[in-house]
Amino acid sequence: MLKDKIAIVTGASRGIGKAIAIELAGAGARVAVNYSRSGAEAEEVVSLIEKGGGTAFAVKAAVNSADEAAAMFAAVEERFGSSADILVNNAGITKDNLIIRMKDEEWDSVIDVNLKGVFLCTRLAAKGMMKKRYGKIINISSIVGFSGNAGQFNYCAAKAGIIGMTKSAALELAGKGVRVNAVAPGLIDTDMTAVLPENVKKAMIDKIPLKYAGNVSDVAKAVLYLASADSDYMTGQTLHVNGGFYM
Ligand code: NAP
Repeated sequence: MLKDKIAIVTGASRGIGKAIAIELAGAGARVAVNYSRSGAEAEEVVSLIEKGGGTAFAVKAAVNSADEAAAMFAAVEERFGSSADILVNNAGITKDNLIIRMKDEEWDSVIDVNLKGVFLCTRLAAKGMMKKRYGKIINISSIVGFSGNAGQFNYCAAKAGIIGMTKSAALELAGKGVRVNAVAPGLIDTDMTAVLPENVKKAMIDKIPLKYAGNVSDVAKAVLYLASADSDYMTGQTLHVNGGFYM
């Protein structure tokens, strides 16, 4: 399905990004497994992919650093002999707080990683994709970018912003054969949601029509679809993977 394609998955050392990297590699893509701190975990993801017969390498870069992001794209080109055909902007962090208690640092760092990181990587990817006249960019937003969420003023701003960026990039790059879409996951079991108190999680699950939290492969399969030629007539769209939590 993705034979000969080159993919970069940001924040792929664990959680949703790890599942996406494994899914894309399973479909034949050569995958750059990006991480910013969790090197050992990223190497484990590479081993898993290689054991399954796939091709991958781990690449350290904080997506919110222009220099590190540029070095990552250069490393991918050197390693695989060509620029990326697929970019999955998945890296993300949360620093939740109520508005009146939110510290400048909590606002700045969440916007920096979740929003500026998408800008920097998209800018780098678009250059190569425009030259190839083909590319797939998939941005991982969130249900809360649509619904809002008390205590996540910063995170919701970033995740809603990603939707505007997805549509703008889709408009700008369509003429060059580059499709840009988003996936908005609901409650997915990962390290990010493991910190939620059990009663909060249970209250959320009660509100989900399907009555359970999703798992990482639910999101990874949606990304695989958007990365493949099967979705070539889609651009500027968002796939909601949330058990009906938000419609
Ligand atoms: P996670 O388990 O906390 O993993 C986050 C990943 O992002 C890690 O691989 C981490 O690697 C990486 N990362 C963090 N800062 C980075 C940076 N500056 N540069 C590069 N990589 C960085 O999170 P997750 O739950 O899988 O979430 C993945 C994406 O899905 C995020 O964008 C999140 O907002 C979104 N999402 C998650 C849920 C959910 O319920 N879990 C729901 C909706 C949307 P290091 O440890 O190496 O920094």
